[in-house]
Amino acid sequence: MDVQQIKEQIVEAVMIILRGRAISRSFHGNISARTGSNLVLTTRSHLDEHFTTESLSVIDPNSEESRATLHPSTQEIVDMHDVVYSVRPDVNVVIHTHAPHTTAFAISSKPIPSAYEAMVRHDILEGVPLAKYGPRGSPESIRNIQDVIRPDTRAVLLENHGVLVFGKDVRETARLAVTIEEAAEMIIMAESLGEVHPIPPEMVRSTIDRKKQFSYSD
Ligand SMILES: [Zn+2]
Repeated sequence: MDVQQIKEQIVEAVMIILRGRAISRSFHGNISARTGSNLVLTTRSHLDEHFTTESLSVIDPNSEESRATLHPSTQEIVDMHDVVYSVRPDVNVVIHTHAPHTTAFAISSKPIPSAYEAMVRHDILEGVPLAKYGPRGSPESIRNIQDVIRPDTRAVLLENHGVLVFGKDVRETARLAVTIEEAAEMIIMAESLGEVHPIPPEMVRSTIDRKKQFSYSD
């Protein structure tokens, strides 16, 4: 896939996020996609209806000179994306937002449990873990993110800040960000009705097996 195709997919991903209301009122957020040793990265700090392929640039995260071409607000978040790629060679896309219900969990320092089947269908088997707080993009926050990423982690809550969602495919990862926001909203509503029950581990396995029986592409 060439860079232009990746940029077009990222624009589509922004629209998926907007339609799914997986974004805060400020529209703050950023997206990156890996292409070889480079990153296609958003150069504006808002994911809104004005987002186009012109809102993206290609940088080499290992080059200070290349990073210096970015706006300071974007330079600040390169390491937050790059740490995911460095620990997860299977990941090609990282999406960061302050999706409100998802971020409510991050602000209350609680992981999101796998209590909603759609999360498990997106291969979130043990909920969304929480990375302890550190100032945005700081070495401390990067270490905290690295500490909670396991080989099968699909998203990480950033305490007092927001969320990172990641995956292989741009559009699928955007849909996952929407599913996590949907799950967070439903769990918060369910808590007002009583205790929330995560899907038991043995049933999580059955859910995955069931999905495989009817595997399809959309
Ligand atoms: Zn943020």
